[in-house]
Amino acid sequence: MATPTVFKNFINGEWVASKSGETFENRNPANTDEVVGLFQKSTADDVNDAISAAAEAYKKWRLVPAPKRGEILYKVAQRLLNDKESLSKDMTREMGKIIAETRGDTQEAIDMTFYMAGEGRRLFGFTTPSEMQNKFNMAIRQPLGVCGFITPWNFPMAIPSWKMMPALICGNTVVIKPATDTPLSVVNLVKVCHEEGIPAGVVNMVTGAGSKVGQPIINDDRVRVVSFTGSTEVGRKVSEGCAPKFKHSCLEMGGKNVQIVMNDANLELAVEGALWGAFGTTGQRCTATSRLIVHKDVYKKMVDMMVAKANALKVGNGLDPSVQMGPCVNQSQLDTVLSYVEIGKKEGAKLVAGGERLTGGDYDKGFFVKPSIFADVTQSMRLWKEEIFGPVLSIGVFDNFDQAIEMANDTEYGLSASIYTQDINNAYRAMRDVYTGIFYVNAPTIGAETHLPFGGTKNTGNGHREAAAATLEVYSEWKSVYVDFSGKIQRAQIDNQ
Ligand code: NAD
Repeated sequence: MATPTVFKNFINGEWVASKSGETFENRNPANTDEVVGLFQKSTADDVNDAISAAAEAYKKWRLVPAPKRGEILYKVAQRLLNDKESLSKDMTREMGKIIAETRGDTQEAIDMTFYMAGEGRRLFGFTTPSEMQNKFNMAIRQPLGVCGFITPWNFPMAIPSWKMMPALICGNTVVIKPATDTPLSVVNLVKVCHEEGIPAGVVNMVTGAGSKVGQPIINDDRVRVVSFTGSTEVGRKVSEGCAPKFKHSCLEMGGKNVQIVMNDANLELAVEGALWGAFGTTGQRCTATSRLIVHKDVYKKMVDMMVAKANALKVGNGLDPSVQMGPCVNQSQLDTVLSYVEIGKKEGAKLVAGGERLTGGDYDKGFFVKPSIFADVTQSMRLWKEEIFGPVLSIGVFDNFDQAIEMANDTEYGLSASIYTQDINNAYRAMRDVYTGIFYVNAPTIGAETHLPFGGTKNTGNGHREAAAATLEVYSEWKSVYVDFSGKIQRAQIDNQ
């Protein structure tokens, strides 16, 4: 067997081993015989070095004109585009989602990088009249300093790029800690940044466990922004760690997204949407459809159609282009899925599809599970309330539109929701009344584009938004500037009365 490649941390423009001298393995979840690579098991010492490099580099990077920073990002975006296929294959090998989807993930990073490159020639502030004569007022954006990023494994390149590119264009420097299941995609992203001209120290990467590497990033006074995407449980810890030091924290967390199907919906379309929403990325998307609620008139028909389609999905290694659903990312995620199947059965929900691990042949080498559907799920059940983050769809029934809205909002999360209906009035009412950060009409709960704000309400987020120009609010601070050219003291609110 070939010796696995050892990947290092990236600090101050150099690939360096962790001071721990230890590494961890990253294996392919579709074939655990394959070691994708060995990565540094880093410590707080390594994080300290990375933050020192970022703090030093900030002194110069913040003064590089934003259009020039943008020119480098254009090169990064173009290179990601050129290398899209190999980057996407690496991503499928390390986290399992099918190649069509990892191409989409890489494309999202490309889109975000081009978008933020263009922002280099905008970064709009504003001017506004003064109350006084001979005085000029403006509000401009300023960077904050070192930004620390803690990212999950389900969008291994897209999510890091959503944080990194806006931070860089605003003039900040970066230390990123990727998820332990997907460090290779971040190694690849950082390598492209370095090779296309981002100066030493501006982007730094340290791999390793959340408690060992993530926590020191949160604790260090020199880090002024912490942007985290992951579970609500860890997000709460990040928030608590940032609060005493008044750091900006941008938190993107869990979801329990709903698709509503009215009795006038195009059912074929609604089934295609729910199938993609629930089983795309093996259900491991923060925006995955985990609750499907259907009007009583079409409930039975919809359940039957969903079952037939789910049973027909081809599950396997995502590098095979005919495969429609890959494995769970790791053993623990597979165990979670199977434990929720048992919970659902005990609670009295009706298992109508899947519910088992796939075994035999190549399946034995990976974390494969059948696409699973529970019908007759009610609002008191754990299946209804808790994020599973796997290919388990819960279907419930409603009588009328108002009940559908009440059920849709009956969750601690608020990321994404959708409605399938031909009635424009119901579409607009649902758009207004479902309390989420993202809403779709006649489309699944997944499918965000990078130039619209991304994020959620309630326990999904802390009010910030990623992507679009909205994300600039996280990575810059307003400075209001008053220029008095009257040659005399002019006291605001006093001398102009
Ligand atoms: P996770 O919370 O377990 O881990 C996320 C990151 O936090 C990882 O890098 C991990 O190493 C790190 N971490 C873990 N413990 C830490 C600690 N004590 N201190 C600092 N860092 C720590 O989440 P995950 O399993 O990687 O991802 C799945 C979760 O992410 C789901 O809940 C999903 O909904 C959520 N998610 C949300 C969005 C969104 O935009 N809302 C997008 C993708 C994923």
